[in-house]
Amino acid sequence: MKIEKKLLNILDRAREGRAPGKEDCIYMLQFQETTPEASLVRATADSIMRQRYGNVGMVFAQIGIEIAPCPAKCLFCSFGEGHTGFEASNMTDEEILATALNFTESNELYALFLMTMHNYDFEKLIRIVRMLRGKISGETKICVNMGDFDLAQAKDLKAEGVAGAYHLSRLREGVDTSLDPKTRNATVKNIKEAGLDWYHCCEPIGPEHTPEELAEQILFGREFGGCFQHGAMSRIYVPGTPLAKYGQITDLKLGQVTAVVSLAMLETAATKTIGVHEPNLIGLTSGANTIYAETGANPRDTEKETTGHRGRDIAACKKMLFDSGFSHLLTSPEKRSELTGFYL
Ligand code: SF4
Repeated sequence: MKIEKKLLNILDRAREGRAPGKEDCIYMLQFQETTPEASLVRATADSIMRQRYGNVGMVFAQIGIEIAPCPAKCLFCSFGEGHTGFEASNMTDEEILATALNFTESNELYALFLMTMHNYDFEKLIRIVRMLRGKISGETKICVNMGDFDLAQAKDLKAEGVAGAYHLSRLREGVDTSLDPKTRNATVKNIKEAGLDWYHCCEPIGPEHTPEELAEQILFGREFGGCFQHGAMSRIYVPGTPLAKYGQITDLKLGQVTAVVSLAMLETAATKTIGVHEPNLIGLTSGANTIYAETGANPRDTEKETTGHRGRDIAACKKMLFDSGFSHLLTSPEKRSELTGFYL
C-alpha cells in the first residue's frame, strides 16, 4: 500500500507534537472517508490523543431547559422559527433541579450544561444557576449553552459560579441562520475575557461543507488563547428542517473531521477535551475522548424530550467510553476513576 509522502510527513510532525496548519487540515479533510489515508489520519489522532490525555474519557451532560420557536431561525434546527412544529414550553425549577440531581448524584459528570434558545431570560437563568449551585456537588462544574451575551453578563455568570460556555459561529452562520457571525464571535471573546472556559466545536457538518470551510472553523478554536473543549458534530437529518434535503454525513466522515480537530489542537495547551456528537465508537477511536448525556430539549431531535430517543444517560456514555478502550473517567481536573466492565 502506498500512502502519499505528504500525509506521512504531516502525521510524523504531529507525533512530534507539531499541529497541522490550515493547508494541511484541508488536505487531510479532502480524502474520502473510506480511503487508507483517512484511516491513517484517524488512527494517528487516536493514539496521540490517548497519550496526551492519559487515556481518560470525560462525560458531560446537557439539560435543554426550554423550547420555543427560536428567532435565530437556524435552517438545521428543529426549533427554528418558521419551520418548527414545537410550541413553547419550559421545564419548571423543580424539574430542572430533579434532573440535575439525577445527573450529578454519582459525581461522574465533569460539567452540567444548561441550554436555552437564542433569546433567553438572563435573570431567570441566573436564578436557576444559583438554585443548582447550592444543591449539586461543588465538584461538578455548571456551564451554559445560550444566545449571545456581553462582557458584563459573562462576568455575572462567572461570579454566580458558572465555569464555562459553549459558543461559536456555526458553519455558514448568517447564511443558514439569521445571526451575525461577528456577534457570535464577540460573545466568544467575552467568554474568554471573563475567564470562563470556552467550549467550541466544528458544527453542524453536512455533506455540502467544503474542506476549506471545515478547516477554517476548526482553526478558530485556537483564537483568543484557545478553547477548553473542541470537537466535531454532524448535522442530524431532522425531517421538516430546510437543510434536511442535503442529508447527513457518515459517522466515518465525522470521525475523520474529529481526527483533524484533535491534531489541529495539539499545540493548544488550553484544550483539555475533544468531543464528538452524536457520540459514536468511530469518533471515540479517532481523537475524541468526550461524550454528552442529554435530556430535555435537543435541537437535533424531533421529540420534545430527548431522553430515551437521541439523549443518552451517564451509564450509556460510560459504556461507550469503556468500549472505546478508555481506562479512566476524568470527573474533575484532579480526580479520575477507573472505567471497568463490571458495572456496565
Ligand atoms: S440551533 Fe439554537 S440558536 Fe439556532 S434555532 Fe436552534 S435553538 Fe435557536
